[in-house]
Amino acid sequence: MEIRLASDIERDSVVDGPGIRTVIWTQGCPHHCPFCHNPETHSFDGGKLVPVEEVIEEIFKGEIQDGITFSGGDPMMQPIPCTEIAKKCKERGLNIWCYTGFLFEDLLKDKDRLEFLKYIDVLVDGRFENALKSYSAKFRGSTNQRIINVKASLKKKKAVLVREYIIKEGNK
Ligand code: SF4
Repeated sequence: MEIRLASDIERDSVVDGPGIRTVIWTQGCPHHCPFCHNPETHSFDGGKLVPVEEVIEEIFKGEIQDGITFSGGDPMMQPIPCTEIAKKCKERGLNIWCYTGFLFEDLLKDKDRLEFLKYIDVLVDGRFENALKSYSAKFRGSTNQRIINVKASLKKKKAVLVREYIIKEGNK
């Protein structure tokens, strides 16, 4: 199985979730949010196809980090290979974050995306809205985006936000 990536795996990120993280930049995004920071990741033909096994090997090469983050592009456009990678990371106890332009509620309607969600700890959802752009909103580009506790949300069948980010920033 292969996954289309926008670039090499990035290590030592401190802006894509808590701690020191390894980031998987997926290629392909249907949302086309105005002022997106990564327009080169939108095309579904761009980037490069990489065997999932190679990605997994790369993640575990060297020092193990605090967690991994799926970003892009929209990882939810490739839920099946992302699930394979996420499964292996969970087996090693890594914490998993994922960014998507979709809303959590919409992801529940697709069985492959729902399967991927089961391995994700925290989902940052929603399109980037330039009018709501904020430099102080931790781990998000704009304040409409929600930082969601996926396990609790799947249990309750509705989005449950991660409390520490709500309290600190006073956002909904
Ligand atoms: S969802 Fe993310 S990658 Fe896709 S267009 Fe919006 S900001 Fe860019």
